[in-house]
Amino acid sequence: MRYEGRVYRPPSEANSLILQVTLGCSHNRCTFCSMYKGEAFRIRPLTEVIEDLKWARAHYRYIEKIFLADGDALVLPNKTLVQIMDTIRELFPECKKISIYGLPQDVLRKTHEELVELREKGLKMIYIGGESGSDWILEKVNKGVTADQLVEAVRKIEDADIRASVTFISGLGGRADWKEHAVETGKVISRMSPSYVGLLTLMVDPLAEIYEEIQSGRFELLSPEEVLEETQLMLENIHLEKKCVFRSNHASNYLSLKGDLPQDKERMLKQIEVSKRDKDMLKDEWLRML
Ligand code: SF4
Repeated sequence: MRYEGRVYRPPSEANSLILQVTLGCSHNRCTFCSMYKGEAFRIRPLTEVIEDLKWARAHYRYIEKIFLADGDALVLPNKTLVQIMDTIRELFPECKKISIYGLPQDVLRKTHEELVELREKGLKMIYIGGESGSDWILEKVNKGVTADQLVEAVRKIEDADIRASVTFISGLGGRADWKEHAVETGKVISRMSPSYVGLLTLMVDPLAEIYEEIQSGRFELLSPEEVLEETQLMLENIHLEKKCVFRSNHASNYLSLKGDLPQDKERMLKQIEVSKRDKDMLKDEWLRML
């Protein structure tokens, strides 16, 4: 397999074959993100992608899951995605799951019928960055969508019978807006009712735009204890009827939470309470990673 630049994948795709179908992110403007800074977005030629799939078939006996990267792979037109997925089905009949990173903007550009087509071709999951439920914070971090658009994108994915895995970032409101971030994110999760929610905790690379705001004191990072308060308030504001798998097991998080909402909400809230009293349960700063 040929890989270009730094390759990112969700934690749950650790055992998947990662296939870069695009390089970088077509948005590349979020102030907290340095993943593709300085890299121009481009679409890999289809011939290269298919050559890589043939290489993988020749070298791996069994591939159960394939993840389409980079950060914005769903931006590809359906025609191209369908060609890639048809090749996957032909070369890897054992493959049970194809998943992809997508921006809310990518989802909103597709019709319901196009999303259904992708599901019929084997797309099981779309990972999407929600980051915050607050319009004010989304605008401040240059996400390029509103909370209503986030909800619409996730509903569109789930309505096409594809699972949506939505990531939010603890601490993204900073000290000034942590309550707004917590409450509005909880409300947005309730409205979008996704299959999966993942929490990361803000960690800033010097290349990210927000770094300068932190250095100048205009943005204050939350302490681990403040992150717990924020997560608690967020969870209290999530009211779901349909099952949602909730995880905060990313390497950047101070506390690992795992549970199904709504049934495990009280247990996770208790876990946060216990952690607030016993700081030994929190990850040391030096062990955190992006
Ligand atoms: S957070 Fe996602 S959408 Fe924003 S710049 Fe980074 S990869 Fe692109």
